[in-house]
Amino acid sequence: MSGILDARPKVGYFYTGKTSLSYISEKIKNIKVSDVKSVPIVVDESTSLYDAIVLMFLEDVGSIYVTSKGFLSGVVSRKDFLRNAMGGMDLNKVPIGMIMTRMPNIVYVDLEDSVLNAAVKLIDHEIDSLPVVEEDEKNYKVVGRITKTTITRLFVELGKND
Ligand code: ADP
Repeated sequence: MSGILDARPKVGYFYTGKTSLSYISEKIKNIKVSDVKSVPIVVDESTSLYDAIVLMFLEDVGSIYVTSKGFLSGVVSRKDFLRNAMGGMDLNKVPIGMIMTRMPNIVYVDLEDSVLNAAVKLIDHEIDSLPVVEEDEKNYKVVGRITKTTITRLFVELGKND
């Protein structure tokens, strides 16, 4: 059952050669981004900082993805808003496109990536979330998001599953 022992008819149980750790790591590597992604919160580049902040509260998210003509163009996080609000920017006049982190500097994953690869990107780039994208002739449609919460939830599920 745990993958450490296997059963064969007329042979009985035998040791598969896997340690429980290698079994867990194999299991994690096989989980895809498409299995665990959640719904992304997306706005157009022309949205005001004020409206984007309201949306962030309403949707209870820490990052918002920004699109131009329907394709991914940027990411804005909590601290981006705070930095600009502290700088005295007029939140009603400035569009989100002015303050976002822009393509090509966006770190993203696609549906077929492993969730392990997504977690490595979150750690390596010290960011809270990754847009999940589908490529469309060198442009990217946003089809989901992977956040630190996604990874924590998965960790809890795997830990509880005995
Ligand atoms: P916080 O605001 O809580 O620190 P992050 O750590 O996610 O949130 O963001 C830190 C910085 O990295 C911000 O300037 C943000 O715009 C940028 N950022 C967030 N997510 C990404 C991403 N997927 N790719 C590139 N930059 C990102």
